[in-house]
Amino acid sequence: MREEFEVAIVGAGPAGISAALALAEKGIKVIVFERGEFPGAKNVSGGVLYGHDLAESVPDFIRRECPVERNIVESRVWYLSLDGGFNVSFRDRAFEEGLSFNAFTVGRARFDRWFAGIAEEKGALVVCGTTVTDLLRDGGGRVTGVRTDRSDGDVTARVVLIADGVNSALAAKTGFRAEPEPNDVALAVKEIIELPEEVINERFNVEAGHGVTIEILGEITQGMDGVAVIYTNKNSLSLCIGANLFDLMSNTVRPYEMLEEFKAHPMVAPLIKSGRPREYMAHWLAEGGYDTIPHIYGDGYLIAGESGMLFNALHREGSNMAMASGRLAALTIAGALARGDTGSESLAGYAAALQASYVMKDLKKYRRFNRFLLNHKELFSTLPRLGASAAREMLTVDGISKKEKQTSIRRRIQGAIPLARLARLLWAGARSIG
Ligand SMILES: Cc1cc2nc3c(=O)[nH]c(=O)nc-3n(C[C@H](O)[C@H](O)[C@H](O)COP(=O)(O)OP(=O)(O)OC[C@H]3O[C@@H](n4cnc5c(N)ncnc54)[C@H](O)[C@@H]3O)c2cc1C
Repeated sequence: MREEFEVAIVGAGPAGISAALALAEKGIKVIVFERGEFPGAKNVSGGVLYGHDLAESVPDFIRRECPVERNIVESRVWYLSLDGGFNVSFRDRAFEEGLSFNAFTVGRARFDRWFAGIAEEKGALVVCGTTVTDLLRDGGGRVTGVRTDRSDGDVTARVVLIADGVNSALAAKTGFRAEPEPNDVALAVKEIIELPEEVINERFNVEAGHGVTIEILGEITQGMDGVAVIYTNKNSLSLCIGANLFDLMSNTVRPYEMLEEFKAHPMVAPLIKSGRPREYMAHWLAEGGYDTIPHIYGDGYLIAGESGMLFNALHREGSNMAMASGRLAALTIAGALARGDTGSESLAGYAAALQASYVMKDLKKYRRFNRFLLNHKELFSTLPRLGASAAREMLTVDGISKKEKQTSIRRRIQGAIPLARLARLLWAGARSIG
């Protein structure tokens, strides 16, 4: 492939495609390489996308038949012990009307393919089944293109956008960014369970086309820093559970065992009853946050999306940050090409634009969150256990007065976790999201 392109993009995920689309709209000659057989073939996501960032790329995405599964109208948060748990939820008519498609579920295999199709319509070339194996550089170290695993595999480009996701073999090989520490990534497993559409509507108390997200913390990750989710698709449920990689490495629990126990939990089992498992996958998630973001530009290259560790672990937002960073990278590249200078200084505007956007502002706000969870494992063991036993005791009608119950609960809490530790935990928790 001896053709020359102005921009070569590694990866046809949301970051790579939103950049390709923006560049192609400006008439810039852009090629995207995707190692999967088609865009989305290798992608895993719990499945929630956000309309705001998609609309920046495709304003009429609903009319263009974006493969939406369900419009999210209700968000639930569960805090689980091994035998039960607490449920807080929020539903608002606005999410059915004015704010519909604020968040919606998709299957990434279908969505990524559709999104790439729109970029192709605008003129981007998307080449699938092709892995970028190295970056080409000139004598001064400036990136000048990519090497692929095709026989005619070198492609020169004035700028390369690296959008290859968190688990980057290219990073390991070329060192364009350090490989993440085990503390800074989570390993998540996901299973898709098929159920008839009407059964999902009934079990989740929603109308056709409407959906629910459930974000779950507690003992389900067996004392490890982790999270689980349940998302409703049209006629399936996405179940994901993951834990910090360092915790998993220091523990004997295997991710698939965690998933099986999660599925058997008394609050989960009735939701998936008689469902048919359809797919099973595993993937990393960038959870380290702001302090783990690498230098995101250099001579002849930029990094976008989760390859740059852009993921908001508290709100489970990654696809939107990928799209936003891809678009900002494209704007910077277009400016640099117009100036005829694609060196590091000319591309520096990308970092400034990202800093000014919600992406870096949010990641900066929550920069202590990952450490907070890692340093407070009682959130995943003692606390949900104590909370559940207190609620169980108060709700049991057994002739013992509520005052006596309160005293026994207080004693139990004090015996399990010193008050000073509890106060420090609350203070650190508030600071980590403040
Ligand atoms: C279990 C799980 C649940 C999640 N849930 C959500 C959610 O509900 N909402 C949300 O917003 N985010 C979620 N995320 C995060 C979200 O999936 C990512 O943040 C988002 O996909 C990042 O987009 P990206 O384009 O940067 O990278 P990716 O989507 O990872 O895309 C990278 C692409 O590059 C390709 N590639 C990699 N290396 C090469 C190479 N060398 N050559 C060619 N191609 C290559 C890959 O095949 C892939 O298609 C979840 C992630 C996981 C793992």
